[in-house]
Amino acid sequence: APVLITGASSFIAAHVIDQFLSEGTPVRGVVRSQSSADRVLKVNSQYASLLSFVIVPDITKPGAFDEAVKGVDGVIHVASPFTPKIEDNEKDLLIPAIQGTLQVLESTYKHAPQVKRVIITASFASIVDVSKGFREGYVYSEKDFNPATYDEAKSPDADFGFAYCASKVLAEKAAWKFVEEKKPQFTVTVINPPVVYGPNRHYIDDLDNINTSSGMFYSLMNGSRLEVPPTSFWAIVDVRDVALAHKVAYYKPETAGQRYLTTAGLFSFQQICDILREEFPSLRGRVPVGNPGEPITGVYNVDNTKAKKELGIEFISLRQMVIDTANNFLDIEKRL
Ligand code: NDP
Repeated sequence: APVLITGASSFIAAHVIDQFLSEGTPVRGVVRSQSSADRVLKVNSQYASLLSFVIVPDITKPGAFDEAVKGVDGVIHVASPFTPKIEDNEKDLLIPAIQGTLQVLESTYKHAPQVKRVIITASFASIVDVSKGFREGYVYSEKDFNPATYDEAKSPDADFGFAYCASKVLAEKAAWKFVEEKKPQFTVTVINPPVVYGPNRHYIDDLDNINTSSGMFYSLMNGSRLEVPPTSFWAIVDVRDVALAHKVAYYKPETAGQRYLTTAGLFSFQQICDILREEFPSLRGRVPVGNPGEPITGVYNVDNTKAKKELGIEFISLRQMVIDTANNFLDIEKRL
């Protein structure tokens, strides 16, 4: 039976899908439109026989996933809005994140008695307390929950970063509450990645119009920046490790009820620029210089012990991630 993967068109889901298809496990992707389904199929043409889709135009509607979950082996919920191109924090971020998660759980609860495992893509955004700034000396881990509230986040005064982080923690908390109250037939594991970069596997036909995190990385190497931008979230992970974490958790019932801060450690945009300039001499004209070698000081740290130990992940280093991501963008530039 297939694994159901929501947000199938996304940067992260592309790698999660690959984890399953490449081992021969069928995947049923949930997307919002046929054109999204077509794009996912295009990059997975060699696995066409293993890949099917359900189109759910509005993931917040009661019963949205009732058909999608029928007969699946398990569920991985990736879909959640992550774009600053929004008009209203509540309508465009909070509701899709929270209601989307609850509808996935509710449909699975009611219409998929066979499902034992549900994995949810949360974020470091649901761990970090943005209101405390860079919190020097503090070590973030799975014990921490971002305390942002719905009312703070829906306010027009809340900036995108704050509202997005709130949408992620409120969706995650809603999922834990659902499990506690309904005691469903399945267990839930949550993956909490911080900033995710890495090679793009999803369909890209326009480099000016890509997902938020890949767009940020690409801006450091496409000549559009004169200055190294200030770093606002200091922890990093490669998308391939995020995908692996989803798969390992999916197959490990011992991870039930757990959340995992999947991170290689701290990074800064300065470090990425330094690595780009060292490893790609041909890009030096496009990458801002800043203060090469500037150390990371005065910020929190992150603890990845649990993810390493319980998921068995050896995190890809920042340098390797930067090299592989930049090579991937250079390939895409050549292709387009
Ligand atoms: P993308 O922008 O590539 O993907 C977002 C996905 O969510 C798309 O599949 C999109 O579908 C779907 N989506 C967005 N808004 C809605 C909505 N209102 N209703 C239904 N579906 C929606 O981003 P990422 O791959 O980066 O993000 C995937 C997940 O990973 C998200 O849950 C995000 O919060 C999380 N995450 C990402 C991090 C990162 O640095 N990239 C860090 C930590 C967590 P469509 O194609 O139809 O627009």
